[in-house]
Formats: sequence, C-alpha cells, structure tokens
Amino acid sequence: MQNKIKAVFFDRDGTLIHEKPGTYLSDPDKVKLYAPVPAALTKLHKAGFVFFIVSNQSGIGRGYFTEKEVNAVHARLQKLLPVPVQEIVFCPHSPDQKCACRKPGTLLGERLIKKYDIDVSRSFMVGDKKADVLFGHGLGLKSVLMTTANGKNHLKKYPDLKPDFVAKDMLCAARYIIKEDKKHA
Ligand SMILES: [Mg+2]
Ligand SMILES: [Zn+2]
Repeated sequence: MQNKIKAVFFDRDGTLIHEKPGTYLSDPDKVKLYAPVPAALTKLHKAGFVFFIVSNQSGIGRGYFTEKEVNAVHARLQKLLPVPVQEIVFCPHSPDQKCACRKPGTLLGERLIKKYDIDVSRSFMVGDKKADVLFGHGLGLKSVLMTTANGKNHLKKYPDLKPDFVAKDMLCAARYIIKEDKKHA
C-alpha cells in the first residue's frame, strides 16, 4: 500500500485562467477560467489527484497590488472551480529580488511535497511557460506545457525546452496525465 498522494501542480495565469498579455490580474471579477478547465479538473479529481496552484505574483513585489488582493482573486478562483484546491501558494517577489521561491525556483514546490508527502514519481506540473516546465523538472515531476497563453512562443523561443507533453487545452492535459498514471497501476 502506498500512502503518498499524487498531485497536479498548476500554474495560474494563462493555464487555469485567461491571461491578458502584459497585464496583472488583481480584480476577482476578472477571473475567467478557460472553458475546458472545470471538466478536466473533475476528471483528474475522480482519478485521485490532489491539486495545488503555484504562481509567480511579481505584481506584489513591483507594487502593483497587495497580497490581500491576490488572496481575493484566489478565493474567487476556488469558487469557480468545481473541485477543491488543497493549497494555493505564490511568490510575491519581483525578479530582481533574486528569491528562491519564484518559478523556476523550486522552493514552494519542495515545501508542498514535504508537507503533504507527495509522490513526485506520480505527480505533474502544468503551466504555460518555460519557468513552469523547469520548475516541474527541478522537482522530478512530469511537466505539461499548455499552449493556451505563452506556451507556443516559449516552445519556439527555447528549442531546448523539453516538456513531457504539450497540450492545446486542459482536457488534452488531463487525458495525458490519466494515461501516464495508469502505467503505475
Ligand atoms: Mg502562466
Ligand atoms: Zn519569491
């Protein structure tokens, strides 16, 4: 019997919710899920995955909005999702603060893996940027790159980037994850 949990770590902007390029989301009323997300997460939830969101919110460090506003966005996001997210964590720093928690830094993921006794060999990272792929690989997770927002550009821009799977929408990502997971059964 294995008691470790299997998890899917999600990026937030451009992965679960729409991202307007060059803008920072701080208004809960502007949170909009990508259409396939509820059905895809329901599938993954039924397959036994526990969910986490790991997000870079440098808008805090840049002084554009506060942690309180980010928490309001997250409350709204959880309300819109049909399944529970175990924990939402974020890096509040700007890149020039050179912290360890901004993706692709793995600190936030390491903490969650320890806290929840997550089985990395059965867990996944899903995001739309190079930093998300590297974050996943840095933790020993399989990385899915979404082409929803920045993914297409990042694939072109970084030819050495090797996500384990490229998904055009969250249902494709969910199907891949469930198929991979069955190899462990
Ligand atoms: Mg993103
Ligand atoms: Zn940080």
